[in-house]
Amino acid sequence: MKTHKILTLAGDGIGPEVLAEAVRFLKRLEALGLARFEFEDDLAGGASIDARGVPLSPETLARAKLADAVLFGAVGGPKWDGKGPYHLRPEQGILGLRQGLGLYANLRPARCYAPLAAASSLKQELVEGLDILIVRELTGGVYFGQPKEIVTLEDGQRRATDTQVYTTSEIERIARVAFELARSRGNFVHSAEKNNVMRTGSLWKETVTELHAAEYADVTLHHILADNCGMQLVRRPKQFDVMVMDNLFGDILSDVAAMLTGSLGMLPSASLGAVSPATGKRAALYEPIHGTAPDIAGQNKANPLAMLASTEMMLRYSLDEAPLADALSSAIEAVLARGLRTPDIAAPGTTVVGTAEMGAAVAEEVANILEVAA
Ligand code: NAD
Repeated sequence: MKTHKILTLAGDGIGPEVLAEAVRFLKRLEALGLARFEFEDDLAGGASIDARGVPLSPETLARAKLADAVLFGAVGGPKWDGKGPYHLRPEQGILGLRQGLGLYANLRPARCYAPLAAASSLKQELVEGLDILIVRELTGGVYFGQPKEIVTLEDGQRRATDTQVYTTSEIERIARVAFELARSRGNFVHSAEKNNVMRTGSLWKETVTELHAAEYADVTLHHILADNCGMQLVRRPKQFDVMVMDNLFGDILSDVAAMLTGSLGMLPSASLGAVSPATGKRAALYEPIHGTAPDIAGQNKANPLAMLASTEMMLRYSLDEAPLADALSSAIEAVLARGLRTPDIAAPGTTVVGTAEMGAAVAEEVANILEVAA
């Protein structure tokens, strides 16, 4: 049995609380003889600033490069807000990891667990069974293109410029991630852009079309304008499987899709980079999309399910343990079906539990799901 090397970076606020539940779950798999892990813990964000004066030390980044995957909690909080120069803020901990590991593909699933369908802002029948995966380009586009500036003009006005830039290789590598993932899911991809008004949109559409014809003709491809995509996401979200888009549209539309499913405490993410020719490993970081929730930190109130769903993605996409990922997903669903809820997803008639109790319930459930003797 292969030993998976996991670097855990708990970070700040509720980060350590939710990450502890992910580790509890993985240790449970180990105790059941289903997998083997080697954990390395390190500091990131505010915790790293306090101990080392920087939000991400070069040694931590080096460890991340050697791990099979990084499990990340969250960073930041009032203790560090607005203090110190920009490059020494806690958020640079996660940005530094994304940059240092070359994480260009951001995977944001929007999955509606059946027991929570009634909690969506959309009608239950529209979201029940929803399972979308948005693949967002993370390192290019308008957030990084140059020039990016505010200048003062001769007439005294100020003018701001952001530049949307994409090359064919950037588009191809993100589209490839989407096509590959689609093959393991519903086998269809929607590619969203605005080729009607943007040159980057035209290149995006052409490049995706060519790649599809050359290498992925077995996957069904639909092109959709990004504005229509936003509308369709709230009109009939179940028409989508895998969706691929640039950094800006992905930022906005993945938040729309995610909120179809309820609380921030339920939403996982994965960020993937290239496969290293030296190690054969794909750089990967898994984290809940929520922040450090300072208002509930240290109170055993945080929902650990986003962190656990991120762990599910790690098992699936980095560790080649799809049956264990499926079991974790079923365990989460089973625990919700029993009516267990952390305060953020509580509803009348449900049982409110704390972070640790929710995490323990999921970890216990997995033996039943896999029908192994505990
Ligand atoms: P937040 O996500 O931390 O919290 C927003 C609200 O959602 C709060 O009311 C919080 O209690 C609730 N919430 C969040 N996660 C929850 C969970 N797992 N269970 C139950 N409730 C949960 O966002 P914020 O308040 O805007 O930011 C707080 C800090 O987190 C800031 O310092 C911010 O910079 C940082 N942050 C970090 C990341 C990251 O590390 N990737 C992401 C977002 C925000």
